[in-house]
Amino acid sequence: MITYPENVIQPKAIGYWKSVSLPDLPDPHNFIDFSISTEQRQAIIQYLENGLAFFHYLGHSFCRFNCGKPEWEMGCSDLTDGTFAWPEGLSHYIKEHSVWLPSEFIEHAMSNMNFDKTKIDQRKLAQKNDAWWKCFTSLQTKQAASAFKIRADE
Ligand SMILES: [Zn+2]
Repeated sequence: MITYPENVIQPKAIGYWKSVSLPDLPDPHNFIDFSISTEQRQAIIQYLENGLAFFHYLGHSFCRFNCGKPEWEMGCSDLTDGTFAWPEGLSHYIKEHSVWLPSEFIEHAMSNMNFDKTKIDQRKLAQKNDAWWKCFTSLQTKQAASAFKIRADE
């Protein structure tokens, strides 16, 4: 593990999903929540899309729900608000697949809605830290339980 100097910001990773090459990340199917209002979703979508792109990859992401959205539209960058870091394509899951995020992030975003990304000091940004996010990998969330119930009732 790399230790960074004190003035370096390591944003907390959120919304990085499991894949064949990254099996120890959370599965978005466990984050489905149909109880969230359109208004609340819209606010979070806007927040996520307003992040500062600070890290770019050579390859594009892909939708874990295989909905047919072209990979180039899922993005190839990490965005940040200076506290959290998320993949460029995260808003797609909130918009199209009823995915919702942990309350710690939602509360942070709601109280930080009008953050100014031009004020983020990019020189201080280090690679994201995924320790917090990985805690959600093995969690059977309440949302997961209700999503499975809906499927079983079909
Ligand atoms: Zn999709």
